[in-house]
Amino acid sequence: MRDFFVFLGPPGAGKGTQAKVVAARLGIPHISSGDIFRENLKNQTELGILANEYIKVGKLVPDDVTVRMIRERISRTDCGAGAILDGFPRTPAQAKAFDEILKEIGCQINKVPYIKVPEKVLIARLSGRLTCRAKGHVFHKLHNPPRESGVCDFDGSELYQREDDKPETVARRIRVYEEQTRPLVEYYMDRGILVEVDGDRSIDLVTSDLINLLEEVEKSDV
Ligand code: ADP
Ligand code: ADP
Repeated sequence: MRDFFVFLGPPGAGKGTQAKVVAARLGIPHISSGDIFRENLKNQTELGILANEYIKVGKLVPDDVTVRMIRERISRTDCGAGAILDGFPRTPAQAKAFDEILKEIGCQINKVPYIKVPEKVLIARLSGRLTCRAKGHVFHKLHNPPRESGVCDFDGSELYQREDDKPETVARRIRVYEEQTRPLVEYYMDRGILVEVDGDRSIDLVTSDLINLLEEVEKSDV
């Protein structure tokens, strides 16, 4: 049985932070659409250069481009036991396309943890976020500082502030989330697979809630 989970929540909710730890614990890949776009930009691929035109102004990359990229990623062998999706789907059209992709391979989404965090907290989190160049590990200047300033604890690479984490772009991204991604809460709630998780707590407390939730699904597979 393949388990697919979608981590839903506004920018800054902690999806990436949590998905990395939980995916490692469950032994399935963490697929972050934002990380894949940034990796492509680093390598100056056509996809990366195109996506960056949208990313740098806080808009969403077009659905067709994004869906194609995720379809290819899901088809790789490391997704044989499932995956955690972080940052995808982000629009109703992407959600429908994702359902189709999973249906084609005889799967469906098992659970959608919705990480809720008040807007004021999101702004503080995004403005202090530090991201690692090599693998996209995230830290926070105050709430989750690296052991050595400017250096990733996990791979020693440089930490930088994402261009789209500047205040003007953050405000736009939160607006875009409200307009285009928030409708997915109802979409998954109607299907009975959405579970709210209070993301306005310590990183460790949120992690343990998420692990309990996802392990329940894994146990019910046996
Ligand atoms: P998302 O992927 O949802 O945009 P991130 O996981 O990148 O969010 O987290 C955004 C920022 O908030 C990062 O700087 C991260 O270190 C910090 N952060 C994540 N979870 C928490 C938490 N529970 N409490 C405080 N800061 C957090
Ligand atoms: P955050 O979790 O902080 O919002 P992400 O790393 O998930 O940031 O995404 C960064 C940017 O990449 C988004 O603002 C958007 O431009 C683009 N992006 C990521 N995922 C998608 C997606 N599923 N659809 C369209 N654009 C996306």
